[in-house]
Amino acid sequence: MIELKSADEIDKMAVTGEFVAQVLAILSDEARPGVDLMQLELHARQLVADRGATSCYWDYAPSFGRGPFRNVICLSVNDAVLHGKPRAYVLRAGDVLSLDFAVSIDGWVADSAVTVVVGDGADPADRALVDSTRRALAAGVAAAVPGGRLGDVSAAIGEVAADAGYRVNLEFGGHGLGRTMHEDPHVPNRGRRGRGMLLRPGLTLALEPWWSRGSDRLTLDADGWTLRSADGSNTAHSEHTIAITEHGPRILTQCAGTPQTE
Ligand code: MG
Ligand code: MG
Repeated sequence: MIELKSADEIDKMAVTGEFVAQVLAILSDEARPGVDLMQLELHARQLVADRGATSCYWDYAPSFGRGPFRNVICLSVNDAVLHGKPRAYVLRAGDVLSLDFAVSIDGWVADSAVTVVVGDGADPADRALVDSTRRALAAGVAAAVPGGRLGDVSAAIGEVAADAGYRVNLEFGGHGLGRTMHEDPHVPNRGRRGRGMLLRPGLTLALEPWWSRGSDRLTLDADGWTLRSADGSNTAHSEHTIAITEHGPRILTQCAGTPQTE
């Protein structure tokens, strides 16, 4: 079932979204060569506690993971792309790091992810990869207009991938959210215009294009969570929580001074 949100409820999700964006801005700035992933996880826990927010990940135990997760942020390095379980790993210059973070505040969830290249000396192909997921996210948001169809959003995202030569995995994509992190509908990162459900004001979605420089298939780490590209190629992931309003799409996971999330 899809629950449309009132303007007041969307404003509440935007409060959560601003906090999520702030945390991602702080942690992506801290993600420098020599920093251990567990430092980022512990800082995220402190920020969640200080804000009185509830992590959506801590007790997360979906069918595909070896739950509960017992961390508050997903940190995926290089070929790891989704559900990266924080571990003792010291970041190096040129690492491609995705940070994916979702919390609930006063009962309302927001979910966002950013990918950054750590330090100096980024591989131009990694920069292009990260840029492509950001452009795809912007294209998906722009297509999320009342009167449109869900397939318009998926198509807009998928076309950016295809034009840049990347392959899209249809197993994991965006989703509805609000009172919980994952609600209907599923939002594939590829689709056909004019197809799928009608987009109406009050629909809240997490759009999250992700792909790798090579394979669209995934392998699961021994930790039971971390998903990697099957061919070991580097990956990127960009995600915003948005609301469809009668005036158009509204990005809920943003704050002042966060170029990473735009
Ligand atoms: Mg997320
Ligand atoms: Mg999500």
